[in-house]
Amino acid sequence: MHQSMADTLYDVAIVGAGPVGSALALGLSRAGLETLLLDGRDPSEARRADGRNFALVTGSQRLFGHLGLADALASAGQPLHGLEAVDGGTHFFGRPSVLFADEDLDSADPGESLGIMVQAEQLQAGLDDAVSRADHLTLQAPAQFAGLIRRAAYVELDLAGADPVCARLVVGADGLRSSVRDALGIATEGRDYGKSVFTANVRLQSPHAGIARQLFLPEGPFAILPLPADRANLAWYMKRGAAEALSRCAPKDIEAELNHRLAEFAGEMRLDGPAGSYPLILQVANRLVAPRGVVIGDAARRVNPLAGQGLNQGFRDVAALMDCLEEASRAGLDIGSDVVLARYSEHRRFDGLGAALALDGIDRLFSNDSLLTKPIRAAGLLAAQKISPLRRILARQASATEDGVPGPMKGW
Ligand SMILES: Cc1cc2nc3c(=O)[nH]c(=O)nc-3n(C[C@H](O)[C@H](O)[C@H](O)COP(=O)(O)OP(=O)(O)OC[C@H]3O[C@@H](n4cnc5c(N)ncnc54)[C@H](O)[C@@H]3O)c2cc1C
Repeated sequence: MHQSMADTLYDVAIVGAGPVGSALALGLSRAGLETLLLDGRDPSEARRADGRNFALVTGSQRLFGHLGLADALASAGQPLHGLEAVDGGTHFFGRPSVLFADEDLDSADPGESLGIMVQAEQLQAGLDDAVSRADHLTLQAPAQFAGLIRRAAYVELDLAGADPVCARLVVGADGLRSSVRDALGIATEGRDYGKSVFTANVRLQSPHAGIARQLFLPEGPFAILPLPADRANLAWYMKRGAAEALSRCAPKDIEAELNHRLAEFAGEMRLDGPAGSYPLILQVANRLVAPRGVVIGDAARRVNPLAGQGLNQGFRDVAALMDCLEEASRAGLDIGSDVVLARYSEHRRFDGLGAALALDGIDRLFSNDSLLTKPIRAAGLLAAQKISPLRRILARQASATEDGVPGPMKGW
């Protein structure tokens, strides 16, 4: 890592050192591209406690292997061996439908699991550490992106209270409220679900065996995601306001509410760490690229966290952009040119949009107790459970092993 200089022309400037921006910075710098990574957050300040845990599918794990971080991920994570779903309706808990499990994977490696559960804080700490040691990578933080000016062969980035910086390509990895996306003139569409997700880590009385379990309640799913030992991460969809209110309650009151409502499904739960809440929003950028600019990760789409696909979609952006930029650079092309960016957009546009809409559809189907939709969702669960080719397709999508995945997400 070296210091940024205002007179340097970087190959790529990435705004946002969250999981997606940091992974891209590591990938591009390993390929020898001079990369600048900017973040408004001061790295010397402690991060806010983050109760999120990510279910990283096999493709994302392989990307981490490609970045030299597989061991760090494996030592911090809990392998996922299957997903069970129960249609809770309003009155009873049905029998669990095993949607898919390890054995449904058409994997080259028979020991490979569906994915791995990792804590958001541990994932970010591993990435921060790797960024601080990487060659061809300059971290500038705190540095707040404030605007951009396009020149013929590069883009100039304005930073609040610091000298401007220049790069052939700017990547907006600055999350849901991306200022880079606005500066590139890319609009968004979507909807606010009017719901929030309550999250907390708990200790379970009964062993989870690495199985993620989801109970579909009328207001939305309640998910138990396995963590190492007897721990689990809970994600409980509620009306906006209710999740926020519950997360602010005293730990003993949260525990009482959890056990009163859900012990029949989850067994006795004991809180283990702070609770939190996140608003549920669907937001999709109507373009992924603009002259000399790209948006990736949550800046490109914020999807329903159902089935844990948000960050995995962001890592697919990373792998696809690595493929396109490395190939263009090897061929001596301008990596910020329209032709290179159009190729990236072709790869990612419909896959990312498809995931956002599919998750939205699942949420609509399961988040009510209408007499019309109940038979359809019951049939959906049954079909997924009974028909093994369908189970295999679901498992391959969940673990990103289907055809068409970018190179850094494939096995080697
Ligand atoms: C409750 C919940 C559970 C989830 N569970 C899962 C899951 O199980 N699996 C999964 O795959 N996904 C999950 N997600 C989605 C996941 O959290 C996001 O997809 C992921 O955090 C997006 O990462 P990112 O790097 O794109 O953006 P962010 O993590 O938002 O990072 C953006 C970065 O940009 C910086 N920044 C912003 N503006 C500026 C600026 N102007 N100048 C400089 N820097 C700036 C910020 O400081 C930040 O570091 C979940 C989301 C929620 C809400």
